[in-house]
Amino acid sequence: MSDCIFCKIARGEIPCRKVYEDDEVLAFHDINPAAPVHFMLVPKQHLASLADADESHAALLAKMLLLAPKLAKEQGLSDGFRTVINTGRGGGQEVFHLHVHVIGGGNIPPMVKRD
Ligand code: 5GP
Ligand code: ZN
Repeated sequence: MSDCIFCKIARGEIPCRKVYEDDEVLAFHDINPAAPVHFMLVPKQHLASLADADESHAALLAKMLLLAPKLAKEQGLSDGFRTVINTGRGGGQEVFHLHVHVIGGGNIPPMVKRD
């Protein structure tokens, strides 16, 4: 996807504050952090959302999820963190390249407010 912003970041065409990189996965800090630590894990291969994943992505998804606690700890989140995957417009997704948010530090409020 030539015009996808996270593909451009994965190709190095747009700079990012890198947290981790291997041949399949890139992690970088969110440009507009929701908490003191806020980074995202993305596959280097374009995949629009979790709803577009299939069996062929199983190992990649497992790798990303297993990296999350490792990288969170490296970023100082020894007390825990929140992972968020927004999927589709109904899920509040804004960038249509799959990403796993890792958010922590400071005060993390309940995820869903109930009356
Ligand atoms: P979504 O709402 O799709 O789950 O999250 C998209 C996230 O990408 C937002 O938190 C937003 O701040 C972040 N973002 C959008 N554009 C850029 C960018 O160019 N660089 C970085 N590092 N983050 C971005
Ligand atoms: Zn992309």
